[in-house]
Amino acid sequence: MAYDDTNVFAKILRREIASDPVFEDDYVVAFRDIHPKAPTHILVIPKGKYEDFYDFHNNASTEEICGFYNAIKKVVDMLGLKTSGFNLLSNCGKTAGQEVFHYHMHILSNKLGS
Ligand code: AMP
Repeated sequence: MAYDDTNVFAKILRREIASDPVFEDDYVVAFRDIHPKAPTHILVIPKGKYEDFYDFHNNASTEEICGFYNAIKKVVDMLGLKTSGFNLLSNCGKTAGQEVFHYHMHILSNKLGS
């Protein structure tokens, strides 16, 4: 399956639709999930065009991969989630519940991030 540029996260990256951003750097954009499943529910997406976990790990550069995971930690630290605990979740494939085919990591926490 080829990357589909019309997916909602591609539109957020192009600023064609609004999001509720919490963090951005050279590698990622992080924003609040529109239908939160926990008091804190953030989505972290790479800026590159990768449809899922496998596409990202097979085709992204080491710099992009490191940048992505470092950014996740920055968001966790920024929101003070380390002490409260948090979950990282990435759905890969339709049958696993992936709805948006631009790779992303969910950060979920019962703490209301500031
Ligand atoms: P997944 O099922 O892993 O592909 O997750 C996609 C997530 O994107 C879901 O939790 C949706 O609630 C979320 N989502 C869809 N559209 C938007 C949007 N415009 N802004 C923020 N989150 C969104």
